[in-house]
Amino acid sequence: MSLRIGINGGTFDPIHFGHLRPALEVLEACQLDQMRFIPCRQPVHRDCPQVSAQDRLEMVRRAIAPVPEFILDPREMERDGPSYMVDTLASLHADFPKATLVLMMGQDAFAAFDRWHQWREILQRAAVVVTQRPEAPASVPDPLRAYLFEGPLDQLTAGQVGFLAVTQLAISATDIRRRLQAGKRVNYLLPQTVLDYIEHKGLYGRDSSERSSG
Ligand code: ATP
Repeated sequence: MSLRIGINGGTFDPIHFGHLRPALEVLEACQLDQMRFIPCRQPVHRDCPQVSAQDRLEMVRRAIAPVPEFILDPREMERDGPSYMVDTLASLHADFPKATLVLMMGQDAFAAFDRWHQWREILQRAAVVVTQRPEAPASVPDPLRAYLFEGPLDQLTAGQVGFLAVTQLAISATDIRRRLQAGKRVNYLLPQTVLDYIEHKGLYGRDSSERSSG
């Protein structure tokens, strides 16, 4: 059987358990050989991250260390311009021509997926697995209805959209940044190794604007 590669993109500013636990559940449910964490350099749909690309990469590297199938993939950081997923998939396809690519995203991202740059081409190259709340009805943009797949997720392949109910962790990077800026503790929201790095480098402090650079 061909290699099954998961893709977990995000700003990871910083990475937290709300990114990590669903990624493990997707890895297992979709029977992936690996899950590649791909921090985006310049997000298309939101403001620029607060800390440097190098710091975000290092935080991801530390966070994923306990799971051997989790891989840090810096390819978007190495590319100029906006981080379009369609380009990332083309680049992955060039590296792994026979692999099945499975792109994971939260329900919030999927609700706007039909506004992503070249979303139809994305679905030609990859499957999409949407992580959602247990028992929550899936909200599917109309143009995506034709792609829904209701079979077992370990069979999910390019051109299909599947859903997986995952453990809900109501954690957001925005909330973590706010707490840090307010001088509050963020223990138990993200891995201790990531917190150690944030503290060591003094990231997200009140004066973080002075420290942030591309
Ligand atoms: P921010 O608060 O800065 O917007 P974020 O915590 O939402 O950041 P991103 O890096 O923007 O994190 O998110 C990347 C992906 O992770 C998105 O698809 C999003 O749906 C998903 N995600 C983020 N937080 C959670 C969470 N707590 N549970 C499940 N999925 C999440």
